[in-house]
Amino acid sequence: MGAIVPGETQGRRCVVIGGGLAGLSAAIALLDAGHHVTLIERRPFLGGRAYSFVDQETGQEVDNGQHVFLGCCTAYMAFIKRLGVVDKTSIQKRLSIPVSSRDGRTSVISAAPWLPSPLHLLPTSLTYRHLTFGERLNTLRVMLRLMRTDRWRQTEQLQAQSFRDWLLVHGEREGAIQRFWNVIVLPTLNDDIAAVSADMGIMVFQGALLKGRHGADVGYARVGLTALLSDAAQRVVKAAGGRMLLGSAVAKLHMDGDRVYGAELASGQVITGDVFVAAVPWDALPKLLPAETAQVPFFAEAQHLEGAPIVGIHIWYDRRVMDDEFAAFVDSPVQWVFNKSRIQGLAGPWQYVCISLSGAWEYATMGKEGLRQLFTKEMAHLFPKARDAHVERFIVVKQLAATFRSKPGAEAFRPQQETPILNLFLAGDWTQTGWPSTMESAVRSGQLAAQAATRGLARQQTLAAQ
Ligand SMILES: Cc1cc2nc3c(=O)[nH]c(=O)nc-3n(C[C@H](O)[C@H](O)[C@H](O)COP(=O)(O)OP(=O)(O)OC[C@H]3O[C@@H](n4cnc5c(N)ncnc54)[C@H](O)[C@@H]3O)c2cc1C
Repeated sequence: MGAIVPGETQGRRCVVIGGGLAGLSAAIALLDAGHHVTLIERRPFLGGRAYSFVDQETGQEVDNGQHVFLGCCTAYMAFIKRLGVVDKTSIQKRLSIPVSSRDGRTSVISAAPWLPSPLHLLPTSLTYRHLTFGERLNTLRVMLRLMRTDRWRQTEQLQAQSFRDWLLVHGEREGAIQRFWNVIVLPTLNDDIAAVSADMGIMVFQGALLKGRHGADVGYARVGLTALLSDAAQRVVKAAGGRMLLGSAVAKLHMDGDRVYGAELASGQVITGDVFVAAVPWDALPKLLPAETAQVPFFAEAQHLEGAPIVGIHIWYDRRVMDDEFAAFVDSPVQWVFNKSRIQGLAGPWQYVCISLSGAWEYATMGKEGLRQLFTKEMAHLFPKARDAHVERFIVVKQLAATFRSKPGAEAFRPQQETPILNLFLAGDWTQTGWPSTMESAVRSGQLAAQAATRGLARQQTLAAQ
């Protein structure tokens, strides 16, 4: 992604609304380009949906949901490097995902270090124990077909059908769809394979698993998300000369003809600027715009996007029940489990684990007691050491609109960063980035918005000179 070259348009007043990863990425790119930036965030901390809170009873930082990044998330990794927090994260040196079934069989999806990409997945494809040998050969064939698929030439067609349908049309079998493809698709796209577009499904495999030996290496923070991002982002923005208004919500944008001239805070104060970047979620945007502007198709279309829930089940056991840092499961309501004690280096004989449930409509409407019954029983089945363990604490974190859904047709509702309003730009994981609803998409969107804003400023200058 090209950096902005500081030039004639330096030193303008930029107002960024929203201090999630998209807003932060836009703010830092605009500061780097030599502008004056005011960042306005509704909450008293930065990071947006990538946040954590301290659980009063255990004193531990609990993420609002386990956040994973992959080796292909180059913009996100560059961003955490810029924040100076890489040492608070880690990423695998070699892809390795242990996948177990309820009957205790385990297979590891891994990259062979001695084979060039895409052959690095060949050994895994041939030894994956959750498929019969015939299914493995067939899956390998479908994977080769997927690799050769030109997403750009077939965009329209791929965006109109589900990934499951695409796999079936190309001869994949139902068992392999559930026990191999969906193990990757469900957590990365936060939706069932039958609900996501073929375009996004193929993007995940072409962009990560099949993209070099390190494209799908799994990474995460070794501290809570707020501990990772909020203070570091404040330091970087301040050091670059940015101003931050935390705990200040923007109530409305004020227009003067075809331009925005100010962002009115809930307190009534109006922050004026030359350009504005709205980096808020899609459903928060219309509230900021004048009613007639919100109805313009460019803005209104985005309201067709839908949210998908993630439910996090956090369990503290009185003893160690799992050894790996994380594990994935097939044929079980437990999808992925993260060993937070090990990831965060928490000392003690007890163990804190987090079950991450994606596309979790079923669990989002379930009460805490029902979830406790279901998941402590299932954990005892999957982890023998959990059978005699005592559950010391059990909490549930439900995020009902954790991500937007990558359904067939959804790409058409994602707007560009440049808007019909001359000096208003959009950022957010939901804008056009080519990526699904992820931290990578958020960081990329911020950079794209900053580039568009810089182009907009140059245009304004040309017009003023005429
Ligand atoms: C439970 C959960 C698990 C996830 N897991 C992963 C994962 O494993 N990997 C991954 O890559 N992604 C994951 N995501 C998605 C990831 O968190 C998002 O894609 C990313 O954080 C979106 O960033 P954003 O800046 O676009 O939006 P947001 O983070 O939503 O930021 C928008 C910001 O705008 C602020 N705001 C809203 N209205 C106003 C206003 N009027 N005035 C001022 N400020 C305002 C909000 O407070 C917020 O800080 C997960 C998300 C959730 C919820």
